[in-house]
Amino acid sequence: MPRRPDRYEEELVTPQRTWLRHMLLLFFGGLLVAVDVKVVEIYKAHKEAEIAAMTAPAPEPPERAKMLRGEIERGVSVIGSFVDAGIPNDQANSVIAALRREGTFDFTTCRPGDRFYAQVTDSGKLTRFAYIINRLTHYNVQRNAEDTLVAERVVLPTDKTELVITGAIESSFYKSILDMGELTKLAANVVRFFEYDIDFVQEVRKGDTYRIFLERITFQDEVVDYGRIFAAEYKGEETGRVRGYWFESDSEKWRGYYNEKGQQMKKFLLRAPLDVLRVTSSFGMRFHPTLKRRKMHTGVDYGAPTGTSVWAVADGRVTHAGRAGGYGNMIAISHGFGLESRYAHLSRILVKRGQSVRQRQIIGRVGATGRATGPHLHFELRKNGRYINPRKVDIGTSVTLPAGLMGEFKKQMKQINEAWEAAPVLKDGKVRREGVFK
Ligand SMILES: [Zn+2]
Repeated sequence: MPRRPDRYEEELVTPQRTWLRHMLLLFFGGLLVAVDVKVVEIYKAHKEAEIAAMTAPAPEPPERAKMLRGEIERGVSVIGSFVDAGIPNDQANSVIAALRREGTFDFTTCRPGDRFYAQVTDSGKLTRFAYIINRLTHYNVQRNAEDTLVAERVVLPTDKTELVITGAIESSFYKSILDMGELTKLAANVVRFFEYDIDFVQEVRKGDTYRIFLERITFQDEVVDYGRIFAAEYKGEETGRVRGYWFESDSEKWRGYYNEKGQQMKKFLLRAPLDVLRVTSSFGMRFHPTLKRRKMHTGVDYGAPTGTSVWAVADGRVTHAGRAGGYGNMIAISHGFGLESRYAHLSRILVKRGQSVRQRQIIGRVGATGRATGPHLHFELRKNGRYINPRKVDIGTSVTLPAGLMGEFKKQMKQINEAWEAAPVLKDGKVRREGVFK
């Protein structure tokens, strides 16, 4: 079963839409009326020969052809989807055969929503075809001199740059990243980097700053993806300074992110019980409107659209899953150490009492059941039955590198710091060569 991207993931790849337009233009670049200059440049750079061929005077009047655009449909085979898009049956078979002959095309990874484009003449002959794998990879199918369809895998050449992305929070972290022209994916990667230390909904304040040293991947100066984060730092009024480094250990067990003391960034408790990017992005990128504190309020509220996934903040066992008075539909999870987490006002409960759950496992969906004025998640942590501030939990002590690896870690940290200081800096959307490291 090919893995389906979840809605979150789909949201992360929305820039693909722009890109797909480029792809379409790339493929039919010479034919479209509304040709955008930038796309032509890209087109020229990579398909110069083809442009020449396509713009050269045709030896005889070319047969009229139409462009088809389709996608793999749910519950329909690949060839069925081709035919549904208007490709004649025999031509669709020939495309499949060409893709098979090519050797690297993996039909098992075709999934609903995958796009393809085809050019078919009025007499029903397919002249060109393209199948989009992702923003950088597609398969072109064309006719060779013998009039046989031949498929070719095309991977667009990307550039990787190590750089520092730095900024200050104006309204939300998410917005500050998007304002710089970076992709949502970067915000997601950074949120994930700090997920054991920072709650990006509750703890982010105007004026907080961050510096991320990472690998950025571009295609024709357009950001398409990010590689590894080598190190990152967040300085905030509420959060204090949090900094982490990648440690490339020979042993897979110890490979990962550590703070300057060699303690794992990964901890017992996740700081937020849901995807904070969904929360901050669903409020028009403004600050998350903290719900008015009620008297005796014993938790943290996350305003979020009904249906937003809620996950367990740590491994544990479900001790309650059902109605609980003003809490509405509530889940309680016991994590040991006398620690319990509660998730209230849920629209749906996806676990059962007594069940073991893992950290980050989806356990329910945001709702407005019980005493709630609107959809939100009421989250609380209790220690020995008493409400505690999630920020102040001190059992979140993390694993420290063994003494034998500490020397190597310190050495790598020093190297990263030097590279971090020397790397070009992206500030206010522009790359500058300046050391901001302190
Ligand atoms: Zn509440």
